[in-house]
Amino acid sequence: MDDDSLRRLPKVELHVHLEGSFDVDRIVELADEAGEELPANPQSILRPKSLSELLARLDWWCGLIRTPEQAVRQAYDFAARLGADGVAYAEVIVNPTHWRGLRREALLEAVSAGFDQAARDGHCDAWLLVSLLRSQSADEALEVVEALAARPPSRLVGLSIDGNEAATGPTGHRFAPAFALAGALGLGRTAHAGESSGPEGIVSALDDLGVSRIDHGVRCVEDRDLMGRLATEGVALNVCLTSNVELLYGSIDGHPLATLVDGGIAVTINTDDPVTLDVTLTSELALAQSVCRWGLQGAIAATETAIRASFASASKASDLHKRLSEFAGWTLPDRT
Ligand SMILES: [Zn+2]
Repeated sequence: MDDDSLRRLPKVELHVHLEGSFDVDRIVELADEAGEELPANPQSILRPKSLSELLARLDWWCGLIRTPEQAVRQAYDFAARLGADGVAYAEVIVNPTHWRGLRREALLEAVSAGFDQAARDGHCDAWLLVSLLRSQSADEALEVVEALAARPPSRLVGLSIDGNEAATGPTGHRFAPAFALAGALGLGRTAHAGESSGPEGIVSALDDLGVSRIDHGVRCVEDRDLMGRLATEGVALNVCLTSNVELLYGSIDGHPLATLVDGGIAVTINTDDPVTLDVTLTSELALAQSVCRWGLQGAIAATETAIRASFASASKASDLHKRLSEFAGWTLPDRT
């Protein structure tokens, strides 16, 4: 399998943050427009030393977005970037608490407008997962979902939660009412867990938040019973290899992807913060291929899993399956 086949594969991404879509040139441009000093030299801005430093940097550069027009462009350019990598469909996490230069409603409308325009121009079909921050209160979280119910952004497909669980401790009970309301509204539900938290964070996301999939989830390998539950219930883990190597494992050799796959768990491959980490979905699928020794068929299977785990409408999921089948039939002519 070559990278060109992976690039042409009509890919699906379920775990990617708009906060991780800023490249150095854009950051410098926005800082200049805002009249702000850079916090580090340009070469090291995108090289945080820890999750906490990464989150602090994200707050700063997202806060440089001060107008809806800047947010529209950020969303449009990101969807174009994904499209250039052959990503057909993406659900993009946006956590409004990081974007302090714009009101939440204006931000989400602008991001939706940017994604709309990008889809019309034939780039990636990108949708919106609004994300809560773990340090928010129960009332703040509920207010976010109530506001989404009152005025849903046009590209909204689901509710997410992210942030550093190691710093906040267990939060499942606090966010249960917000996630219950999201479920009642018909929104998809996903949560970061099993990365900065251990297996208990995954159990809480399933039982307290009612999620149908987990962002990361890799630390389920510390609990064989939980692995069995995830496999039995068909809960997909949205794994991000390079991100996990940077923040958890230190080396790809220590990553448990093969253990997850061998355990029968549904796994999707994702980028997390692609510009910050200098990866693409194509490069992450190539890395997964080297870890699991799967051929193109493995990447196709992971994409099928991603379509099933997505919050896309039935007709959109059907379209994605059709595109994937056409690609597989063309690339693997002996496939029946
Ligand atoms: Zn993430």
